[in-house]
Amino acid sequence: MPPDADLLIRDVRPMGGDGADIRIEAGVIAEIGAGLSAPDGMAVLDGGGALALPGLVNAHAHLDKTRWGLPWSAHAAGPDRDARIKADRDIRRGLIASTEARARALCEHSARLGTSHIRTHVDVEPEFGLAAVEAILALRDKLKGTVDLDLVAFPQFGLVTNPGTAALMEAAVRAGAESVGGIDPAGIDGDRDGQLDAIFAIAERQGAGIDIHLHETGEEGALSLDAICERTRVLGLGGRVAVSHAFCLGTVDDARAGHLIEAMAEAGVGAVTYAPGNMPVPPLKRLRGAGVTMAVGTDGVRDAWTPYGNGDMLERAMMLAYRLGYRADGDLELALDAVIAGGAELLGLERHGLAVGCPADMVLVQAETIAEAVVSRPPERTVLKGGVSVSGASGP
Ligand SMILES: [Zn+2]
Repeated sequence: MPPDADLLIRDVRPMGGDGADIRIEAGVIAEIGAGLSAPDGMAVLDGGGALALPGLVNAHAHLDKTRWGLPWSAHAAGPDRDARIKADRDIRRGLIASTEARARALCEHSARLGTSHIRTHVDVEPEFGLAAVEAILALRDKLKGTVDLDLVAFPQFGLVTNPGTAALMEAAVRAGAESVGGIDPAGIDGDRDGQLDAIFAIAERQGAGIDIHLHETGEEGALSLDAICERTRVLGLGGRVAVSHAFCLGTVDDARAGHLIEAMAEAGVGAVTYAPGNMPVPPLKRLRGAGVTMAVGTDGVRDAWTPYGNGDMLERAMMLAYRLGYRADGDLELALDAVIAGGAELLGLERHGLAVGCPADMVLVQAETIAEAVVSRPPERTVLKGGVSVSGASGP
C-alpha cells in the first residue's frame, strides 16, 4: 500500500455498533456507511464483521528503560521507590542493547497490538545527559507511520537535589520533547516549591506541557497536588498539565479527595494511571463526573521497576476495570474510553476516533462488544495507522 493510503474496509462494526464500511482517503477517514462503493483501483480489506476501535493510546510509558526483546532478567530492585531508582541507575549503566533498539522493539510490538500513540517519560540527568532523549527522538522519526511518540523530559533521579538536571530538561524540550516532567517534589527533592517552580518556569518559557509523577501519598501528596493545581490556574496552563499516578487521591479522606478533584477540574489538571496492583487507582467516575480528564498508560514494561507488562492497552483497560471493581458492560466500555478518548484528550490529539476527518488509526478485533474485547483481549488484531497496515500481527 502507498504511504498515504486509500482503502475501503468492508464489513466492520465501529465501536461495536451496526455493520458498516469505512472509506479511507490519503490516510484519513473519508466516509463511514453501509454499502460504500470502492473507486476504481482502490484496495479493499474485508473486515469480516470485526469490531473496529480507534487507535489505543498509551499515555504513560518509559520506553528508554525497557528490557523488551532482551533475555529475561530477574527483578533485582528492593521493595521501595528509592531502591528501585538506585537499581534503575545501576542497570542503566550496564545495559548493552541500545536505548533505541530496546524502545523500538517495544514500540513495534505495541503498535501491532493496536497502540497508535505513546507518551513516554524519558530520563534526563547529568550522568546520562540527553542521550536517552536523543535516542527516542531519533526513534520517533523512524516510527512515523507505525506509532506516534510524545516525549516528557523526566527527572527520574531528582531535580533540585541533582544540579544540572533542570538545564538538561529545558534542553530536551528545545530538542523536541513536548512536555516537562517531575517527580514527588516533596518526597524526592524535599523542596516542593523549588521543584515545581523550576518545572513550571521551563514550561512557560518553552510553551511546553507538564506531566508530573506523583507517588506521594496522604497529605504530602495532597499538598503537592494543590500546589500543581494552583500554579496551573495562575499561569493559565489548563489542559496542558497532568499528574501521573496521583496516589494521594486514594489515600486522603473523602472530603479532601473531593476538594482535590474540584481543584483539578477548575485548573484543568488531568490524571494518568497505570492501574497499579498495590496502590490506589484514581476514581475514574468521580474524576470524569467533575470534568477531569483521566488517561491510562502501561508505565514501565519489563524494566528495573517491574517484571510485568506487554504493551497491550486492551489488557491495561481490563486491569483498570478490574482494579475499579467494574463488571457491567457500560463500565468496561468506560475503562476503554479512558484509554482511547481520555488518552487522546490528555495528549492533545485534535482528531482521534472513528469519525470522518480523523486519521485512519484503528484496530479490528473479533469480539461482539467492546466489553468482550476488553475482557478477552483477542490476540489476533488487524491494525491500521493512517490507513496503512501495521504488519506482522502477533499475540500479547
Ligand atoms: Zn512512570
